[in-house]
Amino acid sequence: MKLKKTIKAVLNLVKRPIRLEANISYLSPSNRLVGKNIIVTGGGRGLGAAMAERFVKEGACVLIAGRTESTLKETASRVGCKYLVLDVADVNSFDAFLREAKQELGGIDCLVNNAGISLHEPTFFDVTPETFDKQISINMKGGYFLTQKVIKEWVEKEQIGSVLFISSETGDMMDFRPYGFTKVAVNSMVQGLAYLFAKRGIRINAVAPGVTVSDMTGQGTDGNLYHKKNMLGRVYMPEEVAETACFLLSEAAGCISGQIITCNNAKSINARWK
Ligand code: NAD
Repeated sequence: MKLKKTIKAVLNLVKRPIRLEANISYLSPSNRLVGKNIIVTGGGRGLGAAMAERFVKEGACVLIAGRTESTLKETASRVGCKYLVLDVADVNSFDAFLREAKQELGGIDCLVNNAGISLHEPTFFDVTPETFDKQISINMKGGYFLTQKVIKEWVEKEQIGSVLFISSETGDMMDFRPYGFTKVAVNSMVQGLAYLFAKRGIRINAVAPGVTVSDMTGQGTDGNLYHKKNMLGRVYMPEEVAETACFLLSEAAGCISGQIITCNNAKSINARWK
């Protein structure tokens, strides 16, 4: 009994969170997005704000859209972009939103469907019709119909453009939570739409991050990046996701469409020797 206790104590010591730092490399800003007008939904904070910041540094004209005006305003002034209030669950507001966004930006070249929520229902029995519908309408339906409106105009004007969805590593995994289902659907949407519009020069891709520092996950927000389940033993930084997003929107990715770039260091690979 005593020996068991000692072993447990030692194991607990080993398991104790280690403080980690992320060593991130960036490509030097090189005007990769000059001339591009980009909308980022959910851009007030988290991954959306990091992408907006990166896109501005690369010369893009960016508009962030989200629900909370005070957050948008603060981020927009820090990053140097424009903002508009938008609830992506309110599909009926999209026409007015896009009209205003076009006025603010002078046109739309890229749309980043980033707004999303995860309600983290602890068990299958905690999922309710309300939590189910909310995640479907924000993570999946909103991006679908906003993209439909944006692409419709590109097609009518014979304009090229690029749409980026922020999916998740969960889009590649089984799940009992609606959050996971929404990301599987996003991946399907990306591939289906990419194929549909490829010959018109409209590219549609996704970035699928692993667990990344954000308010949504609550991971790493206290500065402790330790995360045992990620391959590097740490959570990812929003800036790492932003770097990949930036590449996918740039002309350097001109031959890439219908791809879901998973940013989790091969965690999703179903290796035989796992
Ligand atoms: P976050 O909670 O920090 O940011 C989400 C943003 O979306 C917020 O600005 C929020 O206000 C906005 N939003 C939520 N509902 C909205 C609505 N109805 N209308 C408009 N805006 C709305 O979380 P995050 O981690 O930055 O998430 C951004 C995206 O990244 C999400 O789609 C999420 O699923 C995805 N993602 C995140 C992680 C992660 O570990 N953080 C991993 C994989 C994928």
